[in-house]
Amino acid sequence: MAYIDYPSSYYAASANPAPERPELLGEVETDVCIVGAGYTGLSTALFLLENGFRVIVLEAARVGFGASGRNGGQIVNSYSRDIDVIERSLPAEQARRIGEMAFEGGRILRELVARHGIRCDLKDGGVFAAFTPRQMAHLEAQKKLWERYGHTRLELLDARRIREVVASERYVGGMLDMTGGHIHPLNLALGEAAAVESLGGVIHEQSPAVRIERGANPLVHTPQGRVRAKFVVLAGNAYLGDLVPELAAKSMPCGTQVIATEPLGEELAASLLPQDYCVEDCNYLLDYYRLSADRRLVYGGGVIYGARDPRDIEAIIRPKLLRTFPQLQKVKIDYAWTGNFLLTLSRLPQVGRIGDNLYYSQGCSGHGVTYTHLAGRLLAEALRGQAERFDAFAALPHYPFPGGRLLRVPFTALGAWYYTLRDRLGV
Ligand SMILES: Cc1cc2nc3c(=O)[nH]c(=O)nc-3n(C[C@H](O)[C@H](O)[C@H](O)COP(=O)(O)OP(=O)(O)OC[C@H]3O[C@@H](n4cnc5c(N)ncnc54)[C@H](O)[C@@H]3O)c2cc1C
Repeated sequence: MAYIDYPSSYYAASANPAPERPELLGEVETDVCIVGAGYTGLSTALFLLENGFRVIVLEAARVGFGASGRNGGQIVNSYSRDIDVIERSLPAEQARRIGEMAFEGGRILRELVARHGIRCDLKDGGVFAAFTPRQMAHLEAQKKLWERYGHTRLELLDARRIREVVASERYVGGMLDMTGGHIHPLNLALGEAAAVESLGGVIHEQSPAVRIERGANPLVHTPQGRVRAKFVVLAGNAYLGDLVPELAAKSMPCGTQVIATEPLGEELAASLLPQDYCVEDCNYLLDYYRLSADRRLVYGGGVIYGARDPRDIEAIIRPKLLRTFPQLQKVKIDYAWTGNFLLTLSRLPQVGRIGDNLYYSQGCSGHGVTYTHLAGRLLAEALRGQAERFDAFAALPHYPFPGGRLLRVPFTALGAWYYTLRDRLGV
């Protein structure tokens, strides 16, 4: 089997030293076999290990190979659709439970960083930037909604104040969330993997699950080995492919692209984002950006439905960066990469069980740095027999994509085109 390494990215180039984990060879037995070593799989492993379970994590490539090692690094609270949408789709009690968990993922992430001493350049403070009065009105409503759930470290920014935190002329205002923030995402995943091993968990890299024999004690096959487990947790998200057809049918992998500039130097970097907050804008297809620890601008945006790899990423993202910061015209781009997230039709995560012992969480639709850490805790609670909070998420409806696998890409692109047009027109 060909060795699969990290794709070239700023994160791979600046990763903390980490061991290569051996491929699984032969048959082993455990309590829980986790498929995928991104944040979902690793945080599930951590919570299970803390509760006395034996855990084996199978990773097709390397720890953090997927979205967890390539993302924008933005710690964004709540979910890809906000709590008000959930309040409209579920009975009041269940919606309230999910609302109460909307800020827990960020807390878990910070607890893990502190407890395990993870070096991932954690910074506090995230800004939502509005282009239009309509988006600003939405942020005002969002602030009230989040405060209703006890999340209070929020500040609305008017046109003058947002220029004090982002040196761009594009925005009419915004909202600052001091429990948002940013991280080096791959180093977070690598630190979590080391924590898993320090608690006795086992991680096998270069070990894709290629087949699962379902039954009372499922058997997970890799090219050279097998894991017999009481439970399987499916945490492959957009990289899971067709391993579990039920999950593939109701989700769609999408690509999004990120670039990193050359180091800008302290002065230029501080002139762009003086407080070192990260920023995402309020458009449906949004731009997101932040400074790295070595003072590069890491800028992401765009969506490719169906996750084809674009030929020239810089050509897609650089114009977006220059619209935000025309002052960076002469700056060189050192890295450009793409990664896949998993879109669901509702844009809310899909959580559940298949049979008695296959558990899954997937599809946080591009907004998963915090949610995946919550998912880890919920999956571990469910396997421990305390499934109330897991079940609140499992009650969210899962819809198949219209048009099935053949037409889901054009249909969804059409929907996104409609929302993008609305953003452009400011309606
Ligand atoms: C470019 C990009 C930018 C993003 N920016 C942000 C952001 O700034 N903020 C935010 O909140 N969210 C962001 N997201 C989303 C966020 O990164 C994801 O929601 C989150 O990382 C998903 O974590 P995960 O563990 O569920 O999946 P992943 O991190 O994708 O991990 C899945 C892992 O499973 C492995 N795997 C798959 N199939 C198998 C198999 N059969 N056998 C063994 N292993 C398997 C894969 O190799 C992979 O390592 C971004 C996503 C992308 C792609």
